[in-house]
Amino acid sequence: MIWNPHYETLGRNDLERLQGERLGELVDRLHRRVPFYRRRMEERGVKPADVNRIADITRLPFLNKDDMREVYPLQLLAVDLSEIVEVHTSSGTTGLPVVDAYTSKDLGIWAESMARTLAMGDTSRSDVVHNAYGYGLFTGGLGVHYGARLIGATIIPISGGNTVRQLSILKDFRATVLTCTPSYALHLAEAAREQGLDFQGLPLRVGLFGAESWSESMRRELEAKMRLKALDIYGLTEVIGPGVASECEVQDGLHICEDLFYPEVIDPQTGQVLPDGAKGELVLTTLTKEGTPMLRYRTRDITFLDHSPCRCGRTSVRMHRLLGRTDDMLIIRGVNVFPSQIEEVLLRLEGVEPHYQLIVEREERLDSLEVQVEMNERLFSDEIKQLERAERRIAEALFAALGIQTRVKLVEPKAIPRSEGKAKRVIDKRK
Ligand SMILES: [Zn+2]
Repeated sequence: MIWNPHYETLGRNDLERLQGERLGELVDRLHRRVPFYRRRMEERGVKPADVNRIADITRLPFLNKDDMREVYPLQLLAVDLSEIVEVHTSSGTTGLPVVDAYTSKDLGIWAESMARTLAMGDTSRSDVVHNAYGYGLFTGGLGVHYGARLIGATIIPISGGNTVRQLSILKDFRATVLTCTPSYALHLAEAAREQGLDFQGLPLRVGLFGAESWSESMRRELEAKMRLKALDIYGLTEVIGPGVASECEVQDGLHICEDLFYPEVIDPQTGQVLPDGAKGELVLTTLTKEGTPMLRYRTRDITFLDHSPCRCGRTSVRMHRLLGRTDDMLIIRGVNVFPSQIEEVLLRLEGVEPHYQLIVEREERLDSLEVQVEMNERLFSDEIKQLERAERRIAEALFAALGIQTRVKLVEPKAIPRSEGKAKRVIDKRK
């Protein structure tokens, strides 16, 4: 089901014309109302009159994560504070939180983009949405909530945590749509198995999983364990929250709501815009947002774009599922490694569970990567020799895929801490 056929199937020329108009209006507004943006434009010698088409976007300055410190908390505000009706922030685990301030119209844009996302999983009025994203300053919970309300579905606003209760509510209210992080979905699936709850008997049919990068193998794992179709969704607090992009039923890239959020992929070193298929950093511009608009915001997320037509009928550009983040990227003895690449390898192997942690250390000025992986019950019962053989086999598979030596350590079932939100995959002791 396509929620908004007009915008989601717009022809490329019409779409670009619309994007160009919206960008021109945005730049004009930001130049008048936000001193920070005006200064940046002046530094680059660009005036609002220079921006007439969407292609002119490359003349505008980037906004970096580091700039967000300078504009904290509300220096990017483009409206009077009295027009703000809601505020969300990022977790701020690595510094000051990033603020998103919404006007009433912005909440409408958010509900619209999330309704499109939910509709990719065929969510309609007759669905029951079990929303296990956290409610609060984090955007996950309320983003799904507003989208589901616009559709008219029944929302179970359970938020994160309390897994035992989650499962009984999921069963008793006969949820058909599950929304949470992929790592939490996996945790729910495991807990269900321990309690003898079989997903076969439940009406659950689709899961919208995001807020973390996850792999194709993880998708297969979740689909088999929970007997649902698992779709990847993408968003970030700075831009709106979830709702920026999501997978359709074809499961081949995430459609970006590009009438609302204009995407570019750039070379993170040079800032050059890259063509379709070339991996780089995703940059997003909020074309219609009023409260705290983002102009060419560098997300640090690594992906590539694909403008080819999709079988679902939507014409919007697709981004490949996240390949990692520029700040998650581990540089091990000069080789770039993303946790998602390691996950992909691990989940292909027999005897191991999709729970892992990466420990990076520096020993005698050399980086070392230890990969701790949980074994399943069957492998656990084997003798030491067999385990050593399994560790060697995993290390060889990782070497073949990544080109680096790793130390693989199998740990007993349940040894890796489970997350109720975003999983912590990397412990970098070099910092
Ligand atoms: Zn599609």
